[in-house]
Amino acid sequence: MSLTAFLRTRYGRVPRSRAEITALQDRAFARFRSRIMPQSPFYRSHVDTALSALPQMHKARLMENFSSINTCGIDRDRAFDVALQAERSRDFSPMIGQVAVGLSTGTSGQRGLFLTTPKERRLWAAIMLGRFWPNLCQPQRVAFFMRADNALYRSLGNPMLRFEFFDLMRGVEAHLPALTSLAPTVLIAPAGVLTALACAQDAGALALAPQRVISIAEVLSSEDRDAVARAFNCKVDEVYQATEGVLAFTCHAGHLHLNETWLRIDRDVIDPKSGAFCPVIYDFTRESLPLLNYRLDDVLIPDDTPCPCGSACTRIARIEGREDDALWWSGPSGARMVPAETIRTVIARLETPVEDYRVVQEANHLTIWLQYAAPECEVELRGALAALAAQLDVALPSLSIRAGLPQETDPKRRRIKVLSRP
Ligand SMILES: [Zn+2]
Repeated sequence: MSLTAFLRTRYGRVPRSRAEITALQDRAFARFRSRIMPQSPFYRSHVDTALSALPQMHKARLMENFSSINTCGIDRDRAFDVALQAERSRDFSPMIGQVAVGLSTGTSGQRGLFLTTPKERRLWAAIMLGRFWPNLCQPQRVAFFMRADNALYRSLGNPMLRFEFFDLMRGVEAHLPALTSLAPTVLIAPAGVLTALACAQDAGALALAPQRVISIAEVLSSEDRDAVARAFNCKVDEVYQATEGVLAFTCHAGHLHLNETWLRIDRDVIDPKSGAFCPVIYDFTRESLPLLNYRLDDVLIPDDTPCPCGSACTRIARIEGREDDALWWSGPSGARMVPAETIRTVIARLETPVEDYRVVQEANHLTIWLQYAAPECEVELRGALAALAAQLDVALPSLSIRAGLPQETDPKRRRIKVLSRP
């Protein structure tokens, strides 16, 4: 593990001003330009290019140019073969030399590859442990639910740390006995899995007493956060990571901050009214596969109020999900983004309680599945959505409300999905 990064994350003083953050980033980039970019055939000719003038990147373009962008001389087709073989066999030790190869967990259907060198793996572990290890004097048992294991995550193991990987593809129920015998002190899982585990705990099928619960890799709604915190009697921390870099995590005051001490994150604002933006990242810790001027399709909602923790790193009110997942309703001045969180809040505030639901937008039509005890909530929901539309000055899409839940095809159990925009 990278001791400096561990100590800096755990005990280091947080940057108190924008100027301090910019100075940190400038230093890191100067090094990146002179040491890393010359090793990338793609970036070699860009060592003197201004950051924002670097070629615009997104997942498809990165994959197209993978072989020339990476600094390890790894061919894309070979990397895909190695990663796919690992997925098929569920034996996750795919390495090309010292470099671990992983398949990224995009829900957009497009596969992405990522690479990690031993140094990058140590840094990832150092940031995670520096921030989240509950107590340095006690050995910890970590349960980590992931879609696929990867050498990246195994870098966490050491004598003070027992680290068990739970394969997400096997479903939550299958893991309950192993989880009970591990009795994890730290529980790390995607939001949907944490919610399912919280239900199992409430139903008496589990009796875990973790000291830390960390939601990772997807949107955690406030209603789910509360349910999970209640079930495990423990506050829920959040780590937002994309292409396996740590982009944001909760501070000691419980608020999400962008990880700007390690990477520069620009805003591509998509909804000026809420300030919602897609992050454009310049990651100066990723040396194997440089991510520069790289736009993610996640939507983040900024929170400009200063945080009691004192960090000047941008505060994030919440992660809205993928750009493709935000609802858009038509209005007099064009389509407006309706944050998924708004819909969740409307449903959570219904007087007639709803156990669970799914919302799917297809063009100008919403299909809502409701699992409820009393059918009156349908009428109430229609009224609440109409009020929301009026408040946002948009037209409510046509609605069909159905009882029960649809056949689940989404392993991440997303409650709100957009198939197409109006
Ligand atoms: Zn804070």
